[in-house]
Amino acid sequence: MTVLPRGDDPPIPPAPSRPRPVPTPLTEGFWAAARERRLVVQRCDHCGRLRHYPQERCPECTSPAWSWSPVSGRGEVYTYTRSHKPFHPAWADAAPYVVATVELDEGVRMVTDLPPEDTDRVQIGSRVEVFFDDLPDYEVTLPRFRLA
Ligand SMILES: [Zn+2]
Repeated sequence: MTVLPRGDDPPIPPAPSRPRPVPTPLTEGFWAAARERRLVVQRCDHCGRLRHYPQERCPECTSPAWSWSPVSGRGEVYTYTRSHKPFHPAWADAAPYVVATVELDEGVRMVTDLPPEDTDRVQIGSRVEVFFDDLPDYEVTLPRFRLA
């Protein structure tokens, strides 16, 4: 235990910073599209299957050939959890918050958090739409979802 001189307050620790996505050669196209307010997923050039998260090969036919394909950004809540304890100190002031798996109308699933105003309204099957959240300190734009 540190004993502080009388009258001195302990230093306030800096706010923990939020973990940020780190684009890789495989994911850079996803992040570049997000900066342009477009949501894209991989489409297999061989069998046409859409997939997310980005993967080197198609899980259906194993083809390594793929392209980015725009999707609607609309879908529904497949499942969700309401977290009352933050998984990371950067979210300490946000709890309780909702982390949801969204199934896009195109059939691809994505994981998102929901804005605070949706925390008590969300249900399985709730319609959602994408929005794009710029994180200027991180030079990244996050595609996130909110209730439609
Ligand atoms: Zn395929």
